[in-house]
Amino acid sequence: MPDATLLSVERLSVSIGPTRPLDDVGFALAKGEILGVVGESGAGKSLTAMAVMGLLPLIGGRIDSGAVRFDGIDLARLPEEAYRKLRGRRIGLITQNPMTSLDPILRVGAQIDQVSRLHMGLDPAAARARSIDLMGRLKIPEPLAVHDLYPHQLSGGMKQRVVIAMALAADPDLIVADEPTTALDVTVQAQIIQLLVDLVRDRKLSLMLITHDMGVVAQACDRVAVMYGGRVVERGEVGAIFAQPRHPYTRALIGCIPRPGMAPGALKGIPGTVPSVSRYPSGCRFHPRCGQAQPRCHEVVPSFEGGPTGDGVACHFPSGVPS
Ligand code: SF4
Ligand code: MG
Repeated sequence: MPDATLLSVERLSVSIGPTRPLDDVGFALAKGEILGVVGESGAGKSLTAMAVMGLLPLIGGRIDSGAVRFDGIDLARLPEEAYRKLRGRRIGLITQNPMTSLDPILRVGAQIDQVSRLHMGLDPAAARARSIDLMGRLKIPEPLAVHDLYPHQLSGGMKQRVVIAMALAADPDLIVADEPTTALDVTVQAQIIQLLVDLVRDRKLSLMLITHDMGVVAQACDRVAVMYGGRVVERGEVGAIFAQPRHPYTRALIGCIPRPGMAPGALKGIPGTVPSVSRYPSGCRFHPRCGQAQPRCHEVVPSFEGGPTGDGVACHFPSGVPS
């Protein structure tokens, strides 16, 4: 585990009714670090973010076991009252769809102002100045004019910049961004990720960046946790994982990154379908889709070799199968 750990999730298991969508999930995020949490939809990434944000009760979810520690605070046992002070102030959230964060009937500038007024006690003029400065840093053209607009008057990319400004407005320590660019045009996606990364680096914040795209991980992240079927299957430093991915699923995700010069439509997904939480396969949950699955994979759950938060992989044959 890195020295200055800000957030650690250890052996986290979450249930929703009779299902167990997160099973023994863990990772650590150091101060100033950008961690990618990557996997297809249905892997449990958003649920992990909700567990960190204390929002599981909204969807009937519950932490069965494990710990979520943020700067010495045990979030898994934090009363909602205390959580409310933490959210926005110390942990900022960026969701996939900006309209879940924006109020359609309030001017966007007022919505950014609100965050620093509420959490930092700024007066209206100071809050407005702060918002306009942030909007400028997010390369929102004419921030003074945009401050007075309503969300529907902005493009998707501009709306998402406003949401990022809101997440940053109270100067939090940690940003949790759940697929922040998925709803946007491909050309806008990389720009917004870069703006977010630059701001996070500049302020030495920590970022948990959820994505289904290994290209985004390569562009933005220091470390990565690969999730599949409600578990973490591989964790490590981004350079090391790209140089030598050990889990077949990690290799498959890397194989899905579009490359320059690739014909449109040439991009192939990973064959097979994501398992449903109510019917997880036995043994290794990836076995029905794994090209190197052996009889043992059908029966025995591969244990994670790196401990609860360290680097490592959960696969019986991380170096391939002997031929
Ligand atoms: Fe494939 Fe077996 Fe490794 Fe699972 S444990 S990823 S099925 S080789
Ligand atoms: Mg999701």
